[in-house]
Amino acid sequence: MGAERLRGVVALDGPSGTGKSTVARRLARQLAAGYLDTGAMYRAATLAVLRAGVDPADPEAVPVAVRAVVEVGTDPASPAVQLAGEDVAVEIRGEPVTSAVSAVSAHPEVRQRLVDQQRRIIASVLASGRQGIVVEGRDIGTVVAPEAPLKVYLTASAQVRARRRGNQDRRAGRGGDQASTLVAVQRRDELDSGRVTSPLRPAEDAVVLDTTELDVPGVLTALRRLATERGLVELAGGGPR
Ligand code: C5P
Repeated sequence: MGAERLRGVVALDGPSGTGKSTVARRLARQLAAGYLDTGAMYRAATLAVLRAGVDPADPEAVPVAVRAVVEVGTDPASPAVQLAGEDVAVEIRGEPVTSAVSAVSAHPEVRQRLVDQQRRIIASVLASGRQGIVVEGRDIGTVVAPEAPLKVYLTASAQVRARRRGNQDRRAGRGGDQASTLVAVQRRDELDSGRVTSPLRPAEDAVVLDTTELDVPGVLTALRRLATERGLVELAGGGPR
């Protein structure tokens, strides 16, 4: 069998701890596609706000602080994140950014700026050697790429999501007990789902995939099946599978 390639945009949305990042990266690697982690962009913008000493809720100062240049790579093998040219991939996963990111990403000006940038990145990847891209976030199917031919909304119970997030934090050497991780995950869900501008919700035509009982290979199998059914997977140099 020849190598398989993705053609077009796969939009992957959902709350934290659903396994989105892991499966989005692996899917992109398996299908020779680009990968865009929009959460990393909101996190880098939040780091800019914190470094500027600005209150994440300040509607005037936050849009000014996020003018700092945020750059993200689209190679699923090494998705780089830079703020004003500095590698911030580790720092944006720390507690200060995680606690403030929902407040920063609720500002409409911040969203407009990053959504515009995300659309430019998607267009440039599709115009390049890679013909497909997996984009993950909270508003990809509803706002960033509403024309995407495959939109998937990942869910899982809050307990399972908190456990996955806690395991991820421990692997990265960050502390935090299970109970406080659950509270933090639920708080972020409420803020992301309750905001006025582009709240977290499934697009009307999204496939909702509950990952509570699935492991990573199980989610990947389901995603590949959906992409293949829609004619988005082709053999390199050939037509649809
Ligand atoms: O996916 P991740 O947990 O890194 O996202 C961090 C935060 O960025 C989310 O909690 C949300 O507030 C914000 N976000 C967003 N829209 C996106 C991606 C992330 O508002 N498309």
